[in-house]
Amino acid sequence: MKIGILSIQGDTRENEMAVECALQEMNLDGKAMPVKTAKEIDCVDALVLPGGESTTIGTMCQEDGLLGIIKDKIDSGMPVLGICAGLVLLSGAVSDKVTGMTQQPLLQALDVTLERNSFGRQIYSFEKEISLDAIGIPRFNGVFIRAPTISEAKNTEILSRIDQNITAVKKDKIIATAFHPELAGDTSVHKYFIGLI
Ligand code: GLN
Repeated sequence: MKIGILSIQGDTRENEMAVECALQEMNLDGKAMPVKTAKEIDCVDALVLPGGESTTIGTMCQEDGLLGIIKDKIDSGMPVLGICAGLVLLSGAVSDKVTGMTQQPLLQALDVTLERNSFGRQIYSFEKEISLDAIGIPRFNGVFIRAPTISEAKNTEILSRIDQNITAVKKDKIIATAFHPELAGDTSVHKYFIGLI
């Protein structure tokens, strides 16, 4: 089992370690692989889109012709875990709480509208216990770093919220979180994702 970590920008190494750790805990034979070319992406069975800066990751993927390749693989059923900036990339439409509407390259794999930087700038980053009951994770340490929230979700299962704000969703084999599971000190979300492969 080859699990690609899209390694254009962002916390790619932390996701590599979380995937390796989850595979070990599950006693599975598999490998986390940093990927950044069409050829590398083509070889993987699943893909993690890590947190970082969605405008940078999206623009660089677009310039390298990777957006279409990733989208095709998602459409043909490849499991994908989108984290924070990765959730932004998966979404259908985006605005930015700090700067307003944005025009940025998106995969549009989820029928969701979201607000980037929904809790404000970097200094308003925080950790909060959340639950993802629908996927059997009753307690999880949510690490929110300039996190987006989903304001409107269609055709998706809502996995977690903070107040009215949707912070994680699932659609078929797509899991997307506004928080950072790779920084939680708990591999439950990565293990659930690996279970989908
Ligand atoms: N605010 C960033 C964005 O919109 C995401 C931050 C993150 O991935 N931690 O791209």
